[in-house]
Amino acid sequence: MPYVYDDQNIFAKILRGEIPNNTVLDTEYALAFHDIQPQRPVHVLVIPKGPYVSYDHFAKEASDAEIVGFTRAIGQVCDMMGVSIDAGDGYRMIANSGEHGVQDVPHLHAHIMGGASTGRMIQS
Ligand code: AMP
Repeated sequence: MPYVYDDQNIFAKILRGEIPNNTVLDTEYALAFHDIQPQRPVHVLVIPKGPYVSYDHFAKEASDAEIVGFTRAIGQVCDMMGVSIDAGDGYRMIANSGEHGVQDVPHLHAHIMGGASTGRMIQS
């Protein structure tokens, strides 16, 4: 089955400026904004600007420039939010994907969560 991207998903609307967001970082290849329902003191979503459903989709079909741009944006966000390992206390990065990953919004997003312990990786 080919990947199918729904351009009416909420993050596509954010990228088009149709709904607001609380921006942390805006680059050529990525947008980072605060999660609307933060689960830790730091909870930022980093999304690529291209139409990718999941990390596997992105890893297979994005250009090298998109992959570098998205990855560098994650590093910048970690620095900006003070959670990077070299200067802070760390974070958890999650990219929920598909049904078993319990993904709600079908546009690739990396959750960066920190500012407090994120507990064990999987609770149930
Ligand atoms: P996931 O279950 O990995 O797809 O997570 C989707 C995340 O998007 C959840 O943590 C939501 O709180 C977050 N979210 C949904 N709508 C918005 C929005 N308009 N602005 C910021 N975050 C949002």
